Amino acid sequence: MKSKQGNGTATLDRALPMDWLQPMSKTPPSNATRYRTILLFGAPGSGKGTQGKIIGNIPGFYHSATGDIFRSLDLQSEMGRKFWEYAGRGELVPDEFTIKLWRQYLNGMEMINQFHPENQFLVLDGLPRNKKQAELLRDTIDVAAIIYLRAEKAKMVERLRRRALKENRFDDASDEVISKRMDVFERETRPVLDIYPKEIIHRVDATMSQIRVLGEVVKVLVPLKEAMDHDNEVALGHA
Ligand code: ADP
Repeated sequence: MKSKQGNGTATLDRALPMDWLQPMSKTPPSNATRYRTILLFGAPGSGKGTQGKIIGNIPGFYHSATGDIFRSLDLQSEMGRKFWEYAGRGELVPDEFTIKLWRQYLNGMEMINQFHPENQFLVLDGLPRNKKQAELLRDTIDVAAIIYLRAEKAKMVERLRRRALKENRFDDASDEVISKRMDVFERETRPVLDIYPKEIIHRVDATMSQIRVLGEVVKVLVPLKEAMDHDNEVALGHA
């Protein structure tokens, strides 16, 4: 079920019956059990994926990138074609479809013991990408912190061009699509920040070296993880 880049050779949906993308049989967690979540926020090319993958290797954090989930779809399948249709133009995939796919994927990860919401933070990368998605996720995620990776537009565009060659990313292949993706971020994604309390938004300069960016990110994560561990100890009667 691990995602692969580019040509859709890994087949998330081939292994599943076509009707799997139905309304969830499992209801979203109640307010008390919403996933404790950290949002990795930033424009395309800001380095969310790079940081997310590293953080996802730290015990207590589970990294979930919607772009990776989409790219794991077989591009010949109905769902894969839908993704290609939108992403190839630099547009967002429709909200309901995105959220349903993501929920099913995450439920699957819980079921196969990859994601343990009781003692892991969910690190969301690329979600929510507009206010509607934030609304659809309101009862599912409890946002503890937002890490906003910031850089000048020119710097991010340069990174996307390089990535297009290295990772065979068709959505970064033309300057026109890159520019569209940047516009979508400004118009639809950035306003998501208005929904959340200012105190939980941590701005990080994404033009620093990767390790320094990681250092800043870790500074945000340490107290959150320690608080989670403490709460779990209390709940178990060990503290
Ligand atoms: P980047 O890392 O450059 O920001 P992603 O890998 O996150 O790119 O996303 C690639 C494409 O996948 C997006 O341009 C969009 O078409 C689609 N996508 C990813 N996440 C979402 C989402 N939450 N809602 C809608 N579309 C999405």
